[in-house]
Amino acid sequence: MSSSAIDLASPESIARYEPVIGLEVHVQLATATKIFCGCPTSFGAPPNTNVCPVCLGLPGALPVLNRAAVELALKAALALECEIPAQSRFARKNYFYPDLPKGYQISQYDEPLAGCGHVEIVVNGAVRRIGVTRVHMEDDAGKSIHDGFRDSGRYSYVDLNRSGTPLIEIVSEPDMRSSEEAYAYLMEIKQTLQFVEVSTCDMEKGHLRCDANVSVRLKGAEKFGVKAEVKNLNSFRFLKQALDYEIARQVAVLESGGRVVQETRLYNPEVGETFSMRSKEDAHDYRYFPEPDLVPLRISEKWLAGVRGVMPELPAHKRARFIGEFGLREYDAGVLTATRASSEYFETAARVSGDPKTAANWVMGDLMGLLKAEGKEIGESPVSAEHLGDLVKRIAAGEISGKLAKEIFPKMFSSGQAAGAIIEREGLKQISDTGALEKVIAEVIAGFPKQVTQYRAGKTTVLNLLVGQAMRATRGQANVTVVTELLKRNLAGGEKC
Ligand code: ADP
Ligand code: ZN
Ligand code: MG
Repeated sequence: MSSSAIDLASPESIARYEPVIGLEVHVQLATATKIFCGCPTSFGAPPNTNVCPVCLGLPGALPVLNRAAVELALKAALALECEIPAQSRFARKNYFYPDLPKGYQISQYDEPLAGCGHVEIVVNGAVRRIGVTRVHMEDDAGKSIHDGFRDSGRYSYVDLNRSGTPLIEIVSEPDMRSSEEAYAYLMEIKQTLQFVEVSTCDMEKGHLRCDANVSVRLKGAEKFGVKAEVKNLNSFRFLKQALDYEIARQVAVLESGGRVVQETRLYNPEVGETFSMRSKEDAHDYRYFPEPDLVPLRISEKWLAGVRGVMPELPAHKRARFIGEFGLREYDAGVLTATRASSEYFETAARVSGDPKTAANWVMGDLMGLLKAEGKEIGESPVSAEHLGDLVKRIAAGEISGKLAKEIFPKMFSSGQAAGAIIEREGLKQISDTGALEKVIAEVIAGFPKQVTQYRAGKTTVLNLLVGQAMRATRGQANVTVVTELLKRNLAGGEKC
């Protein structure tokens, strides 16, 4: 795969080292308007139309902090179990970029919004707690679009629609020890923030972006190695690939007697390699200073209590509750709490059904299967949670067999109708009435004299065949338990005669 001159370390060498990873994750807050002005944040508008003097960085224009952005940032901080100090402060981070018209980013520096949080991940069955160092607010830059060569010139364009979009940056402690853990951490961040509706976390639209810091050290060593930062990883797959490459590269450098240099790198997914972009800048390069156009941000107890009051139940808590209350397996609880929509769908279905475990199987199996086949989200399911719960309830009550339910469900999915309507229309009710079944049983006994004799001679295994025949005669609608009982009784009765 590799086209570069760099030799990567062998698996044996890599196994002697331990990677150390910390992530910096940027998340776009789901506000309707920008962080310091009233321009819309909507995606896909014609270039440079969602702009005003503030987000264009025109001289003299003054920022006004968006209250809704602060509330979403607070929700994120609470969801990541952070401490939230009574005051934070905005700071200017100075650098030049063509799509940064102010010449600085308004971020937070030594007084961030929140910190000291954590996230729990499960990798290979082991629970790991990853520290969240800080969560701070900042504005996004615009976008540069490079068009290559045209009309014997080389063109780049600047679109400032994104300029001033509200972001939070979530910085982790260097607590991860493998690319799998980094992947799981980013996934947990994404699911949690989607759950509390802080962000869509749509990676394709850049609503979730990740920079990965990684170093390696000999196993057992105490000191961290020198890290490299891989910027702008815009998919989970690339995060893992870039980390695995970078770990192998750093080990190779050390094994050949070299030293890892602190630098900023980029990942090229086409060749599966990282390459150096620039030597690492330090904080002092940015000439941070307190933003003079904004007062410090004070979060009152009352405001925070209000935000806390509208927080939904967090996924980790929901998972634990589904295991405790409904007896679900850890894995199933994880699947069902992957999104807020799936967790709410399942919980409603479970309550209506009175049989949560069976409801869980139906949601994860039949429902998710059909949804996937049609490219639909669970929120667009033609079968409502109540209808699925009702179907499971009918199975539990013995009204329909599980087998019959498997035939009814796709009809519910294609029509949007409740199970009851389909059962009624197609006459699919399970036959448990002994009177109706006696006739069928008599026919089976008459039709299979050899098996009947064998059964009566003690070869009881032929009962399965006879039950099967009775089920076939009723097109699967007979209640298996009743059929079995009736057969046994009739066969035994015959012997006595
Ligand atoms: P910098 O000042 O270089 O930006 P920070 O201390 O702000 O470094 O950390 C940035 C990110 O790098 C954090 O997520 C942190 O956990 C991670 N990090 C710090 N040191 C290391 C290291 N030696 N190896 C891997 N990651 C690290
Ligand atoms: Zn604006
Ligand atoms: Mg940093």
